[in-house]
Amino acid sequence: MSAFTLELTPAHHELIRRTHAFAEDVVRPAAAKYDAAEECPWEIVDRAAREGFYNALFYADLIADPTGLSLPLFLEEMFWGCAGIGLTVVLPALALSALNQAGTPEQLARWAPEMFGEPGDIKLAALAVSEPQGGSDVANLQTRARKEGDEWVLDGEKIWIGNGGIADVTIVNAVVDPELGTKGQAMFVVPKDTPGMEQVRRLRKLGHRASHTAELRFESCRIPAENLLGGEDKLEHKLEKARRGEGKPAALGTFEQTRPMVAAMALGVARASFEYACSYARQREAFGGPIIGNQGVSFPLADLAADIDAARLLTWRASWMAANGVPFQAGEGSMSKLKASEVAVRAAEQAVQTCGGWGYVDDLPVEKWYRDAKLYTIFEGTSEIQRMVIGRTLTDPEATDTPLHHHLPGDRGGVSRKFGHGSLARARAGEAFMRLAKKAPDSVLRLGGKLASPGA
Ligand SMILES: Cc1cc2nc3c(=O)[nH]c(=O)nc-3n(C[C@H](O)[C@H](O)[C@H](O)COP(=O)(O)OP(=O)(O)OC[C@H]3O[C@@H](n4cnc5c(N)ncnc54)[C@H](O)[C@@H]3O)c2cc1C
Repeated sequence: MSAFTLELTPAHHELIRRTHAFAEDVVRPAAAKYDAAEECPWEIVDRAAREGFYNALFYADLIADPTGLSLPLFLEEMFWGCAGIGLTVVLPALALSALNQAGTPEQLARWAPEMFGEPGDIKLAALAVSEPQGGSDVANLQTRARKEGDEWVLDGEKIWIGNGGIADVTIVNAVVDPELGTKGQAMFVVPKDTPGMEQVRRLRKLGHRASHTAELRFESCRIPAENLLGGEDKLEHKLEKARRGEGKPAALGTFEQTRPMVAAMALGVARASFEYACSYARQREAFGGPIIGNQGVSFPLADLAADIDAARLLTWRASWMAANGVPFQAGEGSMSKLKASEVAVRAAEQAVQTCGGWGYVDDLPVEKWYRDAKLYTIFEGTSEIQRMVIGRTLTDPEATDTPLHHHLPGDRGGVSRKFGHGSLARARAGEAFMRLAKKAPDSVLRLGGKLASPGA
């Protein structure tokens, strides 16, 4: 297992630099235009692809980083530029995550390139789970999949689907055995233009307007048997386990991995809002001085500075856990998403407040960030659902009686255990030194001080 570290590698720094430059030079200047037009930013996605930010192997590479940091570093910078454009760039990666978890290596190789395309021939992907009667209660999904000969037939409705109706590949979650609740569901690949899949309507949204969101209908939508992710044997095995009360729901595994990703997106909006508010408050004058000089302005920003950093640490920790297969025993993925989404909403609101009347009109970008931020407390599990996930873990003494760092595996032996910082040997040596100090000359004291200083 890779150790959790805040020490970024040169590759991390380069990823931040490249992504930030793209967000600043390409994404931000286009943000207002696509927000107003509520259009899919094809041109920007194409430029992202040319920069290497839009292909399956790029995301596979970020996910494979054992420090877990590459993915949140990339997402924070990209979403700092624009949440709506950022979401369009990243949506195929969310669908890819589902394909990766549920599909076979052959299915991954077959469909991953179709989800992104290439510069000059951009393709899109969608992940369709939520339905009109409820998104939080995944056990209550109504879309059915039934096997007929060599085909699966899908019937039902999906709503709020990012890239829905325009995606080249849509990963659809459907019920195959209603008796088994979430464990009786499976995922299917539905290619674009499959008869029986139609876009009912495009949804107009409060924010994230550069991202296309739609309602979909599946009516006798027939797909080949091999489009069942994981294959039939695996599904049968899973259903058998579910009948014995074992196993895991199809979509929930994906959410575990994607929640820290959504947290990192929220951090991008939080940071953009916070930076803008601070900069504005330093320049704007009232009552004879910059408004930042008033505690009424600086204190809420100070709280945000601390809370954004806290949320980032939770996000990096959850990403590191996901990358190293450490189970979210205390809901650590949900903690990161809960905190990052709520601080994004607060930061954007504070940015509007700090900018006063100018914050309320679209001369400044903060009103857009205010509209964009709210989505983070809703999608990929609402804040209430994240609290529910964390709350459920509280019933398990193993998750609550010891903090994570008490039970993580690690090097528990060796020289460090006996002689490292805080060891009994060092404590005794310190006592002996203090006794000696009463009698020793200054030069000996200076040497002792050096040995005991940090890093010794
Ligand atoms: C812009 C946008 C993009 C989206 N993109 C996608 C996508 O690409 N793919 C996809 O599948 N879905 C997507 N979604 C759907 C999103 O994940 C759902 O909206 C979300 O899960 C909430 O479901 P719901 O809207 O049905 O709310 P409901 O489940 O109806 O919940 C309504 C309210 O009740 C609360 N609530 C529900 N149950 C409980 C409980 N047990 N305890 C306490 N409170 C509770 C909720 O927190 C919420 O506040 C998107 C949504 C939006 C708005």
